[in-house]
Amino acid sequence: MAQIIDGKAIAADIRREVAADVATLSSAHSVVPGLAVVIVGSRKDSQTYVNMKRKACAEDISELALVAEVHRLNADPAVHGILVQLPLPKHINEEKILSEISIEKDVDGFHPLNIGKLAMKGREPLFVPCTPKGCMELLSRSGVTVKGKRAVVVGRSNIVGLPVSLLLLKADATVSIVHSRTPDPESIVREADIVIAAAGQAMMIKGDWIKPGAAVIDVGTNSVDDPTRKSGYRLVGDVDFAEVSKIAGYLTPVPGGVGPMTVAMLLKNTVDGAKRGIVE
Ligand code: NAP
Repeated sequence: MAQIIDGKAIAADIRREVAADVATLSSAHSVVPGLAVVIVGSRKDSQTYVNMKRKACAEDISELALVAEVHRLNADPAVHGILVQLPLPKHINEEKILSEISIEKDVDGFHPLNIGKLAMKGREPLFVPCTPKGCMELLSRSGVTVKGKRAVVVGRSNIVGLPVSLLLLKADATVSIVHSRTPDPESIVREADIVIAAAGQAMMIKGDWIKPGAAVIDVGTNSVDDPTRKSGYRLVGDVDFAEVSKIAGYLTPVPGGVGPMTVAMLLKNTVDGAKRGIVE
């Protein structure tokens, strides 16, 4: 049976470490780390996500006004991190807005310069995207070695699949990326010592896709109908937990795996940004 990686407990450890850093910053430097979260529109899932954070909310604004708001936050010394909740409404150019965030405050790590540095050998981004960083933290805090291992990432999105592939590569894994146009993805996943599942397809990855003993990080968060629940649905990952837990060496549950890490990493990135600001 796989060792179940407890993302909630690991995230709680990180939050304690972050809290200690916040206390030091405040007592030794009178700096209180500040995070600004900008939400445009009223997508229900974005709001649920951000309700887990402190929120600064702007509704239905033009692209020009949103750029002005980002510039205002860039210039505000009390703000160390700026997060623009994606996706943005259609009338706003996401690429433009992300490029306007000061790279020193880009706690989501989606600025093209930060992604570019992540992709380049010998360069370090100022911030690494939170969910991918959370996946790496789950591996390292569970004692899983990445260096020299075969890693397969299922999914190539800008927010999860691509950046987590780049992080694994930086950590000296040999990385393959599987996507919706990949024929026979299971034969590739079967070669992996480390699997990162980020396709958004409920329980797609079955037990016979997994090499015995592999470490499997399930990023997928999919709601499926469940009439036995009061809500009428439940959350499942991209991994068939019942099957894969019998084969894998390590496995994250959904919920309680990657999800709590994303928020913990956002707090960590914000505090790291605040620390960088006080370097004499
Ligand atoms: P996305 O933008 O929809 O990207 C999905 C990726 O998976 C795409 O690259 C797609 O390929 C690939 N894919 C789709 N179906 C596939 C299949 N049958 N076989 C192989 N690859 C397939 O999704 P995302 O934003 O990366 O999110 C992925 C999942 O993670 C979602 O369930 C999301 O809810 C979850 N998530 C969780 C957290 C968290 O904090 N826990 C954070 C972010 C996302 P193409 O590129 O070819 O279309």
